[in-house]
Amino acid sequence: MSTSLKIAGSNLEHVQTHNRRVVLDAIRRAGALTRAEVARRTHLTAQTVNNIVSALHDTGLVSAGAPNRGGRGQPSIPYSIDPEGAWSLGFHVDHRSISGAVVDFTGRIRGHKRIPADQPSPKQAADALARMAGPLLRRAGAVESRILGAGLAVPVRFNAGSITSAGPTTLPGWDEGDAADMIEAALGMAVLIENDAVAAAIGERLNGLGREIDSYVYLFMNDGLGAGIMIEGQPWRGTGRNAGEIGHMIVVPDGRPCPCGNHGCLERYVSLSAVYESLGIAPPDATPEFIAHLETSAPGRLDAWVKDAAPRLAQAIGILESAFDPQTVILGGVAPKSVLERLVAALALPVSVGSRASRTLPRVMLGRTGPEAPLLGAASLPIFDEVSPRFDVLLKNG
Ligand SMILES: [Zn+2]
Repeated sequence: MSTSLKIAGSNLEHVQTHNRRVVLDAIRRAGALTRAEVARRTHLTAQTVNNIVSALHDTGLVSAGAPNRGGRGQPSIPYSIDPEGAWSLGFHVDHRSISGAVVDFTGRIRGHKRIPADQPSPKQAADALARMAGPLLRRAGAVESRILGAGLAVPVRFNAGSITSAGPTTLPGWDEGDAADMIEAALGMAVLIENDAVAAAIGERLNGLGREIDSYVYLFMNDGLGAGIMIEGQPWRGTGRNAGEIGHMIVVPDGRPCPCGNHGCLERYVSLSAVYESLGIAPPDATPEFIAHLETSAPGRLDAWVKDAAPRLAQAIGILESAFDPQTVILGGVAPKSVLERLVAALALPVSVGSRASRTLPRVMLGRTGPEAPLLGAASLPIFDEVSPRFDVLLKNG
C-alpha cells in the first residue's frame, strides 16, 4: 500500500523525526496542549514547536480546538490528536485464536474480531488476517490513504532478526519460510511483527497505566509467561530481541521438568498452561473462557493453583525489581481478570529494592488494557514507527 506512508512522508519529511514524536507523545498523553504548553513540556524551542505543530496540523494528524480567550496576549489554541488522522491494524495470533482490531490515531479500538484457531500456522494466520482486514477498516470508516500499516503480536522468539519457534510455548511453524513476507503479501501492507509480551507492554503504554508510568515490567500471562520491559517509555528488547523471556527463569531448583530442557521454570507454575495442568483439563476445555466460567460456576477450583503459583511469582517479581528498579510491575495477559486479581491478592512479596518507603505506586498492579493489550500494542507499532526511530521494526520490508 504505497499510499499509506504519504501522511508522514511528503509533508513531514523535513521535520526531525525524534522531535515530532516528542511533540505527538506530549499531546497524546495530555489530551490537548497549546503550542506554549508543548514547548514547556518538551523543552523544545518555540520555533521548533511551531514548525512541528503546523506540519502536524496541515497533515491532519492533530486538530485545533477553540481558542482559549481570557488572559493577556493572543488567544492560544489547544491541539489534540485527530482520531481519524491515521489508522492502523493490530493483530494478535496465539495458540488458540486469531484476533484483529482497527485502531484510530488516539489508540482507541474502533472495531475488532476474534476467531478461534488451533496453533495457527503463518499461512492460516495470513489468510484469516486478510479476510478480517477489509471489513474492519470499512466498518470503522478508515480512509485508505491514512492507514499506516499493521502490527502483529505473536508468541515467538527471535534469532538473528528472524522468527524462531524454538521454545516450548512459542507457536510452532513460524520459522519456516518468511512469515512476515507471507502476511504482508496477504494484507497488501507493511506488517511489523512483535513478541506478544512486548506488544502488550506497548499497548499498556498507549492506552493503559503506561500513560502515567514510564518505567515498568509488564508480565504477560498466556499459555506461557513473558515480560515486556518498558524503560522510560521505550521497550527494552535486548541484543537478541528476546529480553523478557522470564518464563524460563528457574524458580524451583530441580522442580517440574520444562520442555526447554531445564527444571523448575517459572512458567511451569505461573501461566495458563499451569492452570490447565492443575485443573487436569486439556483442549478443547483448556481456554481462558473456560477458566473464567469456572471462577463463577465452581468457586474454589483454582485455589490450589493460586496457592502454588503465588510464591513463585512473588520470587520472580523480587528478582525483576532488583534487576530493573521499575516504578511498578504490571500483571496482564489473556488470563481472565478474576484469576489475575486472585494471584495478585495472594502475593507475599520478598524484600527488594521495590520495598522502598518512598514509593507512591503499589509494587504490583493489574494492567488496565486487559486481554486487548497485545492487540493495542500491535496496532500501535506502525503508529510509533511513523514517529519514532526507537520503536524500530523487527521484520519490516525494505
Ligand atoms: Zn523452561
